[in-house]
Amino acid sequence: MPILVAPSRPFDVEVDVLIIGGGACGLTAALSAFDTGATPLVLERWSSCMGSSAMSLGALCAAGTQEQDAHGVEDSAAIFLADIMAKTGGKANPLIARTVAEQSGIALDWLAQQHGIVFELDLGWRPAFGHSRQRLHAVKERTGADMMTRLINGCEAKGIDILTDAHVTDLFATEDGAVAGVRMRRPDASIEDIGCKTLVLATCGFGGNREMVADYIPTMKTARYFGWEPNQGDAIVWGQALGAAVADMDAYQGLGLLADPQGIDVNPKLLIEGGIQINSLGQRFSNELDDVSGQGARLIAQPEGYGWVIYDERIHQIALGFPQYQTLKELGALKVADGVAQLAQVIGVDRVQLKSTLDIVTGLQTVGGTDEFGRVFDKTPLTGPLYALRVTGAIFHTQGGLVIDAEARVMRPDGSRLANLFAGGGAARGISGSGPSGYLPGAGLCSAVTLGYLAGQSAGRLSRQ
Ligand SMILES: Cc1cc2nc3c(=O)[nH]c(=O)nc-3n(C[C@H](O)[C@H](O)[C@H](O)COP(=O)(O)OP(=O)(O)OC[C@H]3O[C@@H](n4cnc5c(N)ncnc54)[C@H](O)[C@@H]3O)c2cc1C
Repeated sequence: MPILVAPSRPFDVEVDVLIIGGGACGLTAALSAFDTGATPLVLERWSSCMGSSAMSLGALCAAGTQEQDAHGVEDSAAIFLADIMAKTGGKANPLIARTVAEQSGIALDWLAQQHGIVFELDLGWRPAFGHSRQRLHAVKERTGADMMTRLINGCEAKGIDILTDAHVTDLFATEDGAVAGVRMRRPDASIEDIGCKTLVLATCGFGGNREMVADYIPTMKTARYFGWEPNQGDAIVWGQALGAAVADMDAYQGLGLLADPQGIDVNPKLLIEGGIQINSLGQRFSNELDDVSGQGARLIAQPEGYGWVIYDERIHQIALGFPQYQTLKELGALKVADGVAQLAQVIGVDRVQLKSTLDIVTGLQTVGGTDEFGRVFDKTPLTGPLYALRVTGAIFHTQGGLVIDAEARVMRPDGSRLANLFAGGGAARGISGSGPSGYLPGAGLCSAVTLGYLAGQSAGRLSRQ
């Protein structure tokens, strides 16, 4: 049973705001709680703070930021909200969608101004995959790992304690459901208890828990999970045991761009810049720019479950600026050929079929036009040497979770709020509605940072009342 009865005696150690999970959500919550004057403590089960956040490409969507203003990008919470609702077919929870749309820019500006953690507008991300504006932001180095380094340094600069190798196994709660503290297991199997006034759940989703994936997302039960393995759905299990509601549990971020077999995610910019995706037979099967997340399931459904991203020298030169792409190059994952016939041979695809596919694409790219899948092509034909990267589909992280309100406070099914429990990031219901197709690029980190900001702020204030 994950919920233990709170002891009658005080805990030896008690903090204002206890945060379980040291990913982007947890560390942002810590900074935000600190700014309210509260004392936060982060507990992370791994030996360092990484999580899915460090595995990510580090691209985060946000609207109305100072960075967008500086680059003359006209965007607003209302436009972002409209994009979220359009992408999810109206299925995103309106309260959370509006809250995230309104607060995302505020959270990024606050991180820059108060903590020197600057997310630059990534001008390489043109509006695509459901974003009608340029609103993808990233730290200078453009990786999730560097984003985490900056968040860790930000916490250290404020003297915020982060305890790693601290695997929280149980929560303590009083009879009325208020959380009193947590129990954690250390690597030497010793047990430690810590009390808290408020608790923020930032343990992400349940992608690492095969049973939960089979229960909630049966269509992906055999799909590869390419996320942070320690994310076992603990927040959802604890929350439900305390009477919390969960929602959108079949929502997830998939991707049809996992380099196979290297297991490195390929930047969607290869497609945005004009690349295409074919299956193992050499056929295109979708509008590659329509549904970045749903493409994972689409690709898995193709013969043999894998495919190729095909692009040219111009796109290759752009991609050389991405650290993950450099690694793929060093690992020998890039296949290069002088023409279609050679490419077909190098990647083992039927030459006639590949030529037919590329002829159609070249035709569209020459005049500019829309294909049978609804993809609109620029007048930028693929030229010069052709490149191919073998990819497969995977589930990256789950998007459903605990139901929260606009203060990131965890709710019961009847709409009442739990006394002192907050959640954000992958632990909470996100802005993706249901299934894979409502996922907008950058929405995972957007939810982590924005809801982490709100959760830390609300928990900090409550702890000081
Ligand atoms: C390969 C990949 C690429 C991605 N790229 C992008 C991208 O470019 N843009 C984007 O927006 N999103 C991206 N995502 C999704 C994004 O990474 C997540 O949505 C986001 O990182 C979630 O943040 P989080 O803080 O909620 O979770 P995490 O960063 O996963 O942090 C959760 C932490 O909780 C810890 N934890 C779990 N259980 C316990 C416990 N019981 N006790 C103590 N600690 C615990 C875990 O060890 C982990 O460190 C990507 C995901 C993957 C896997």
